[in-house]
Amino acid sequence: MGTKIDGKLIAEKFREEIKAFVLAQKEEGKSSPKLSVIFIGNDGGSLYYVKNTQKLANSLGVECDVHIIKEDASEDSVIDLIEKLNLDKEVNGIMLQIPLPQKFNEGKIISKIDYKKDVDGLTHTNIGRFFSGEKSYVPCTPKGIIELIKSTGLDIAGKRAVVIGRSNIVGKPVAQLLLNENATVTICHSKTKDLKKVCSEADILISAIGRPNFVNKEFVKEGAIVIDVGTTMVEGKLKGDVIFEEVIEKASFVTPVPGGVGAMTTTMLLKNTCEALKGNVY
Ligand code: NAP
Repeated sequence: MGTKIDGKLIAEKFREEIKAFVLAQKEEGKSSPKLSVIFIGNDGGSLYYVKNTQKLANSLGVECDVHIIKEDASEDSVIDLIEKLNLDKEVNGIMLQIPLPQKFNEGKIISKIDYKKDVDGLTHTNIGRFFSGEKSYVPCTPKGIIELIKSTGLDIAGKRAVVIGRSNIVGKPVAQLLLNENATVTICHSKTKDLKKVCSEADILISAIGRPNFVNKEFVKEGAIVIDVGTTMVEGKLKGDVIFEEVIEKASFVTPVPGGVGAMTTTMLLKNTCEALKGNVY
């Protein structure tokens, strides 16, 4: 029987660090970190996430303003807002909630964010620097996943890691981070042959596909670490990709949904905002 990785508990450690940083800034008469979030449209789930980000930020002393933009707004008005935030000396980080409603050119809008404030690591500058091994903002979900794996005490170097999913925001960057930690990494996707077999050879298995209950014990090697990134709403409940109760019988560690990866993501965003203020990245 394996152990549940408590994402909330691990996130708490980083939250305490953020709080301590904000306090130290205040004591020295310096400014608090500030994040500006841009939300376009009316997707309830995304708005819920954005509001939660703001709530968490405020509870840690990080300033966070949310710019809610109607779907019928023009692309130019969004770009104007980004340019204003780029110039605002009080704003350290800008987070654009994606995906955007279809009518917007997402790539064009992202490209307008100053890469030095791109704390979610979405701009081409940050992506290029990240994959070239240069200093950059690291996307928040992958960054949190690596911390969850490290929390188990496992030495990642030399381990066989399999990532299911190849998106730009999760699959590819988490694979790169595992590679940086000297794991031997395989990325799987919807065209992968013998997926179960490939996964069952992994010491570290990460599922980021968004298909509830897809990963059962047959995908899992005895003693593996299993990270469930998937979040899908099923009858009003958040479901992961992994059948937790079944997989924990075989794995050494498994993240739950909710309370696993998701708990880390927002915290990493606020951590990156603090790094921006510190000037640690640029
Ligand atoms: P995405 O862009 O939809 O990508 C899904 C990936 O899964 C694709 O690469 C796809 O393969 C692959 N896939 C789908 N069905 C598959 C199958 N049957 N077998 C193998 N691979 C399959 O999704 P995403 O943005 O990366 O997000 C993935 C999941 O993570 C979603 O549930 C999302 O809600 C969740 N998520 C959670 C957090 C968090 O903080 N907890 C953050 C981000 C995302 P192809 O490329 O071949 O189509």
